[in-house]
Amino acid sequence: MTDSDSPSVLIVGGSLVGLSTAVLLRLHGVDCLVVERHTGTAIHPRAGHFQLRTVEILRSAGLEESVRRKGEEVYHPDGGINNVESLAGREIASYFPNLNAGVAEFSPTVRLFINQDDLEPILRSRAEGLGAELRYRTECASLEQDPDGVTATLRDLETGAEETVRSKYVVAADGNRSPTRGRLGIGMRGHGLLSNSVTIYFHAEVDLAPLLEGRYQGVNYVTNPVLRGFFRLDRSGNRGFLVVNLVGDTARPEIVAAYPDAPWANVAENITEQRALELLRAAIGVPDIPVVIEDVAKWRAEADSAERYQDGRVFLAGDAAHVVPPNGGFGGNTGVQDAWNLAWKLGLVLRGAAGPGLLDTYDEERRPIGELTVEQAYARYVTRVAPYLGDEGMQPLVDDFSMEIGYRYNSAAVVLEPDDDRALHQHPRESKGRPGSRAPHVFVEHEGKEVSTLDLFGREFTLLVAPSGEAWRDAVATAAGELGLPLKSHVIAEPEFPAAYGIAGAGAVLVRPDGVVGWRAIDGTGASPATAHEVLRKLLCRTDQGGT
Ligand SMILES: Cc1cc2nc3c(=O)[nH]c(=O)nc-3n(C[C@H](O)[C@H](O)[C@H](O)COP(=O)(O)OP(=O)(O)OC[C@H]3O[C@@H](n4cnc5c(N)ncnc54)[C@H](O)[C@@H]3O)c2cc1C
Repeated sequence: MTDSDSPSVLIVGGSLVGLSTAVLLRLHGVDCLVVERHTGTAIHPRAGHFQLRTVEILRSAGLEESVRRKGEEVYHPDGGINNVESLAGREIASYFPNLNAGVAEFSPTVRLFINQDDLEPILRSRAEGLGAELRYRTECASLEQDPDGVTATLRDLETGAEETVRSKYVVAADGNRSPTRGRLGIGMRGHGLLSNSVTIYFHAEVDLAPLLEGRYQGVNYVTNPVLRGFFRLDRSGNRGFLVVNLVGDTARPEIVAAYPDAPWANVAENITEQRALELLRAAIGVPDIPVVIEDVAKWRAEADSAERYQDGRVFLAGDAAHVVPPNGGFGGNTGVQDAWNLAWKLGLVLRGAAGPGLLDTYDEERRPIGELTVEQAYARYVTRVAPYLGDEGMQPLVDDFSMEIGYRYNSAAVVLEPDDDRALHQHPRESKGRPGSRAPHVFVEHEGKEVSTLDLFGREFTLLVAPSGEAWRDAVATAAGELGLPLKSHVIAEPEFPAAYGIAGAGAVLVRPDGVVGWRAIDGTGASPATAHEVLRKLLCRTDQGGT
């Protein structure tokens, strides 16, 4: 056993969320080591639908263009989401006729489709380019915490050699079965196992796109007496995958009653290539269509959330913290947003600009959103795939804009206003710069170019004021200097800015590095360095008075 250098943060798991964490930590100047059991990045497409907030994060990390270009090689940029009897059959429902309808009002980006096995290499390359260390075929075999840090045993899976690594913090992005979560004794709660599902990867010797008769290809749910699941079909029309969640006619109560133990009814058990072919043809809706099965992956559709996202110096992120059925495309997105929430907090605590209490706000902020996401993915699973489960214990559906960019935080790292109703979500058209919500998108002129307000955030705290907001601008700059906090200030002259952010001309808005409004002053009343000092100390969870 040998001892290795000490990274500030050890990331266990180098898939979608581990790699995103590495990129975002590096952007905050945090050195990190990623360990991953596999030989490389993902080999299956899995996550494909990337939501607005995630694309905004990729934009902030300088990756939006490369990700969009790669996604468009495979998918139509605005593919929709509908439900059909089969590709050749009748349309039953349309959930998103166009993935990006109405998006421009809220964001400078768009939602997109890119397969996880295409996205991960882009994240890997960015993480390595930014200086993160990645080790493949390396397993984290144990973790021990003490007041000053964490000692991990890492095992080289090729040679069996072990070494210990000391880090200040650990991010466990080690997936649904998270060995780290198990070691910490953190349980999962929720709806549990929904179905033993399969994904059938295939190519067809004919173009399947004409079967959709001009309806957008994106995600096509399939509902018929043989199976329920969904297709993701490449824009080529002859390649893609079919997820099968349920087999059997679950619309018939006597069938459901006949299999009381069936999650539903275990298509994954003993699946053969012949059976996969039958299911695929039933989903396409053309009996003898020439298709070739390339692979079949088995997985469990579950809807559960971890009881805690933090244990001392160890944080759970991604599927380790919450696992959802794929309906709504939340799983990987929520994980990337966990990483986004945690990275700046680790950055500021490690450099001494924030108090360690800031790290406790990761669980305070992300766990309620994780639980909401689990419930909303479950509700979409029930309504789109498994209506036989009924609506008992199902939350009413929350619209997608509210889920993607309308969730709100209530923690020690936000100064809520006296009239705040502490709702977990609000439509972005309504929240208007309310503390705890995502700072709204407004096009503004910056250094001679038109950018989004969102482009001003991502690294430091950012103060936005209108031209008559200089009293707050000076007060906050003075306080930030006293506290040793890097701060950027922008005077926004665009007339729509104050209303979009819910302030009068002399007001001010302080945006956290994750683009969430931490505090705002509706007008210039009470602007003073002392008040600003108090606000910043609260947002940073600082218990001292002075600088770093
Ligand atoms: C069919 C399907 C469709 C989906 N569609 C979408 C979608 O459209 N949008 C979306 O957002 N999500 C989607 N998802 C979900 C998405 O794939 C997951 O949420 C995402 O992969 C979670 O990423 P993760 O990094 O948290 O975990 P994982 O991808 O599970 O990665 C965990 C990694 O940790 C490694 N690991 C585990 N233990 C150790 C250890 N001790 N030491 C070292 N390494 C370790 C594993 O090898 C693994 O690579 C879909 C999933 C499926 C199955």
